[in-house]
Amino acid sequence: MVAAGYTYDDNLAVADEHLARFAAEPLPHLIAGEAVPSPSGETFENTSPIDGTRLGDVAAGDAADVDAAACAAAEAFDAWGSAPGTERRRILHRVADLIEHRAHQIAVTECVDTGQTMRFMAQAALRGAQNFRFFADRAPSAADGLSLPSPDHVNYTTRHPIGPVGVITPWNTPFMLSTWKIAPALAAGCTVVHKPAEWSPLTAHLLAEIAHEAGLPPGVLNVVHGTGETAGKSLTEHPAIKAIAFVGESATGSRIQAQGAPTLKRVHFELGGKNPVIVFDDADLERAVDAVVFMIYSLNGERCTSSSRLLVQDSIHDEVTARVAEKMRHVPVGHPLDPGAVIGPLIHPRHHEKVRSYLDVAADDGATVVEGTPWDDAPAGGNWIAPVLFTGARSDMRIAQEEIFGPVLTAIPFADEADAVKIANDVDYGLAGYVWTRDVGRAHRVAHALEAGMVWVNSQNVRHLPTPFGGTKASGIGRDGGDWSFDFYMETKNISVALDTHAVPELGG
Ligand code: NAD
Repeated sequence: MVAAGYTYDDNLAVADEHLARFAAEPLPHLIAGEAVPSPSGETFENTSPIDGTRLGDVAAGDAADVDAAACAAAEAFDAWGSAPGTERRRILHRVADLIEHRAHQIAVTECVDTGQTMRFMAQAALRGAQNFRFFADRAPSAADGLSLPSPDHVNYTTRHPIGPVGVITPWNTPFMLSTWKIAPALAAGCTVVHKPAEWSPLTAHLLAEIAHEAGLPPGVLNVVHGTGETAGKSLTEHPAIKAIAFVGESATGSRIQAQGAPTLKRVHFELGGKNPVIVFDDADLERAVDAVVFMIYSLNGERCTSSSRLLVQDSIHDEVTARVAEKMRHVPVGHPLDPGAVIGPLIHPRHHEKVRSYLDVAADDGATVVEGTPWDDAPAGGNWIAPVLFTGARSDMRIAQEEIFGPVLTAIPFADEADAVKIANDVDYGLAGYVWTRDVGRAHRVAHALEAGMVWVNSQNVRHLPTPFGGTKASGIGRDGGDWSFDFYMETKNISVALDTHAVPELGG
């Protein structure tokens, strides 16, 4: 189990023990229960966000690897899809047990592969286990439907797993996010081909290893590594794959929809965000400021639900931004395995460059740039960044419109409730919104008016697994969480049985 008591040295020792194997041999795909290289022999290099050194090579999958995995998933589907829900529940609980057992290894691996800090990855690994338990418990009732009687017929619905599905995930919290998709798919009776992000491939391998050890039959969960343009694209085009659950950028979602159109893929998209946190002048400012700081500077700001726009009423604007800036300066940047660090290096030099470029964009557009405290001992070659706050911004600036996906907050003043809602909705995205006010009526009015899939009032993002998760506008299509996940991974069938009381029309004498 991951205990808060692990020291920096403990974490470094686990990294030494468990990461050497990834450097020694190329990370293989896992297809039909076997660890296999790409037949092409192609690999790509995986580098450390901490210092840019090589973590290892990774099999570069192409259409042939995806075909092998999709065929394995198709072959395994009949048995897995028709296995009793209680059997799926048993195996998925065993997966959760093993995740808990290896949670420290998973968290350390995730930190080194992504640059996210242990402070958050320790919890993320355990959340992966919770996701498996949550959906495991619902596996036996996943097929249950509704009774919808009419005067002359008994109508009832049932649900059936849709078939083999593709799961395509990003690099920001890859282990936790992949369990959020894979656990309900397996609980529903689907088989899975997972294409993890090429910048963070390691923990996908650990999850598949664990699933295999837990007794998941071969072919039920397959992993194909590779780039989005090659392996990802092939997965979205494969005729045996019935649906794609995708988490990533909005532009990629749009491409996937086009790629999947010829084979009529069902899609579920969790995409980008530019989420507002609205702070009214009657809010509990102590709690609001802590939540604002937490929701942008945790997880390196590489979080789809981060509140990256601080909308603050002009009467308290200077006070709130000063308090946020003061806290921001004390947010520690450090090695991802240091339990005291909050912000680690960003995932990749390209992403680092993109995030840093917004400091110039902000200055050019006339906003004020406030930088936090960098880590003096940051290793050379890493993608290090200190937290950033932009003040004096307007909604039409790029820093207020574009998803930066780093520890970078844009503060914008507003005059009143109508102005706050207008600014909040003035973006392409619509994932989450956060409202801070003590006025109950206003809290409800604003929550209703926000164009977002999820709204938290007087709270940071606190996830409750039975509730729906997802976005509107360019932030996504569909919801998951609770039964919404099963709706995506299953087909609903209506069965109508006559009571022999209705008239059957006679044609032709
Ligand atoms: P990305 O879209 O670049 O990549 C995501 C995945 O898609 C990767 O595995 C990639 O290889 C694959 N991919 C890329 N092109 C593809 C194609 N043509 N066909 C099939 N697959 C393809 O996203 P990213 O940069 O890895 O992740 C960051 C983004 O993810 C941000 O926009 C963030 O907001 C979003 N995100 C959203 C949520 C949410 O729940 N809404 C959660 C986490 C991250």
